[in-house]
Amino acid sequence: MSLRILIVEDEPALSMMLRYNLEAEGFAVETIAHGEEADLALRENLPDLLLLDWMLPGISGIELCRRVRARPEGDRLPIVMLTARGEEAERIRGLKTGADDYLVKPFSIPELVVRIRGLLRRAKPERMADRLVAGDIEIDRATRRVRRSGHEVPLGPTEFRLLEFLMSHPGRVHERQTLLDHVWGTDVYIDDRTVDVHVGRLRRVLNKGDAKDPIRTVRGTGYAFDETFGKP
Ligand code: CA
Repeated sequence: MSLRILIVEDEPALSMMLRYNLEAEGFAVETIAHGEEADLALRENLPDLLLLDWMLPGISGIELCRRVRARPEGDRLPIVMLTARGEEAERIRGLKTGADDYLVKPFSIPELVVRIRGLLRRAKPERMADRLVAGDIEIDRATRRVRRSGHEVPLGPTEFRLLEFLMSHPGRVHERQTLLDHVWGTDVYIDDRTVDVHVGRLRRVLNKGDAKDPIRTVRGTGYAFDETFGKP
């Protein structure tokens, strides 16, 4: 079962974008736009991680954070606060109130995902696999190393993230724009063809000799990690 993330954010566009991206990462996501409503939902049951906007209508993010922490079962819930620029001076107050981490808007999605995974790895180590394996390819997320048939594959950081993203969604076809958003971040403007260049690089390093290519090119769409790879 997927780990559950509750997003409390009153900007609809941001909330939708976060939901889309975190669902693509394999999380079960719920969104709430109002402080009071979030307070009720959190009293009913706690998610595995809470993403909390600072400024909300109704009860503020900081007050919600304080209320969750005041409950014995809310003590260990990972909480990430989102703050607008200019609220940076308030960060310390946020951390004092009990948030585990904070991000200043606009933030990059890959950065958010790294922080979320880091917090969940600590909170739910049994649910967050550090190793991803498909056939003879093995990724260690903690050390950021890749091995194929036991041999180290020397990948650059972009190729590593690309392979990690493709491999964590076997069979799913990703458009180039989706890959740009997840691997490079939404706040950078790069040509779609950059994706092709990096996939090419990844293939050259990963598929030495006559090793089978696990990445499928889907003409006119994008790329997928072959779900049949390594399976009889
Ligand atoms: Ca807000």
